[in-house]
Amino acid sequence: MKKYILLLVLYLVIYPGAYAQWDIYVAKYKDNKKSAISYTFDDGLVEHYSLVMPKFRDLSFSGTFWINGSKINTNPAAIKDTTRMTCAQLKEMSDMGHEISNHGWAHKNFSRFPIEDIRVDIEKNDSAIFEWTGKMPITFCYPNNNKKKEAMNIAVINRVDTRTFQRSIGSKSTPADLKKWTDRLIETGDWGVGMTHGITYGYDAFLNPQRFWDHLDYVKSLEKYIWVATFCQVGAYKKEYDAVSLETSVKGNRMIIKPSIDLDKNLFKELLTLVIKNKDNKNIKNAKIKQGRHVLKPVISGNTLIVDFDPFGEPLSVKIK
Ligand SMILES: [Zn+2]
Repeated sequence: MKKYILLLVLYLVIYPGAYAQWDIYVAKYKDNKKSAISYTFDDGLVEHYSLVMPKFRDLSFSGTFWINGSKINTNPAAIKDTTRMTCAQLKEMSDMGHEISNHGWAHKNFSRFPIEDIRVDIEKNDSAIFEWTGKMPITFCYPNNNKKKEAMNIAVINRVDTRTFQRSIGSKSTPADLKKWTDRLIETGDWGVGMTHGITYGYDAFLNPQRFWDHLDYVKSLEKYIWVATFCQVGAYKKEYDAVSLETSVKGNRMIIKPSIDLDKNLFKELLTLVIKNKDNKNIKNAKIKQGRHVLKPVISGNTLIVDFDPFGEPLSVKIK
C-alpha cells in the first residue's frame, strides 16, 4: 500500500509539470488562419454555374449557393427560365463540395405571409434540395434579407447557422474597396460573408466582372491568412469553437487532451484545429498524436504544431519531442 502511495505522490510531483511549457488551444479558424471568407451567391442564377463554378474550381475554393426551388429548371428539355440553374447543375456543384442551400422555395418576403405558409415554404425547399443533391441543407438565407422574428424562429430549426450579416459584392464594388475589405478581415480576424447576385447582368451585377475575378485571385494569394470555405463550414467551426472546452492532463510521458462540447453532432461536423505551442520557443522535432485509435497527422512548424481533431471524439493522446 505504501509503495502505491509513494508512486502516486511521485507521479503527481513529477508529471503535472512535464508539459507545462506548452500552450494548448483551439485555433479561431481552420488551419490556424487569421480570418475567414465565405462567398455566397443568391437566387440560383445560371451564371453561378457557368462563370463562378469554373473560377472557383481553378482556385480550389468552395462557395455557398442559396437557391429557390420554385425557380430551378427540373426539365432540361423544357427550360422555363434561362437565367436559372437546372437541378443537374446543382447536383454537379454539390458533388464538387459547394454548398447548395435554402433561400426559401418561392423567395417570399416573410414579413407578408402567415407563419404556416413560411414553414411550408422552407420545408418544401429543404425537400427539393435533398432530392436534387442528396444532401439536406443545414443553413438558411432569408429572402430579401427580411428577418422577421417569427420566421427566424422556424428558419433556424436544424440549422448550423443562418445568414444574418453580409457584405454586397457586385455593382458597387471597386478594386480598392474589395482590397480594403480583405485586408481589414486579416487585421481584425473577422469572418467576411460576401453576398453576390448577377455576374454579367441582372440584379446588382458587376460593372466589370473582371473586378471580381481579380479580387478572388488576390484572396488566393493571401490564402495563408484567410480560410475560404462555405458558409456552413465556417458557421459550424465558429459555433464549435465557442462551445468546445479542453481538459488537459498528463499520463506517463503523454499528454491527454479531453474535448467536451454540447452541440448536436448530427448537425455540427467540422473538425477543429488544435494548436500546441512551445512557450520557450523550442523547436518541435516530432509528435505522435492519436484520437482514440485514429492516428492524426500534425503539421509542425518551428515551435508550433497544428492538428485537426474531432471535438465530439475521444480524448487525444499527444507525445511531443
Ligand atoms: Zn434572393
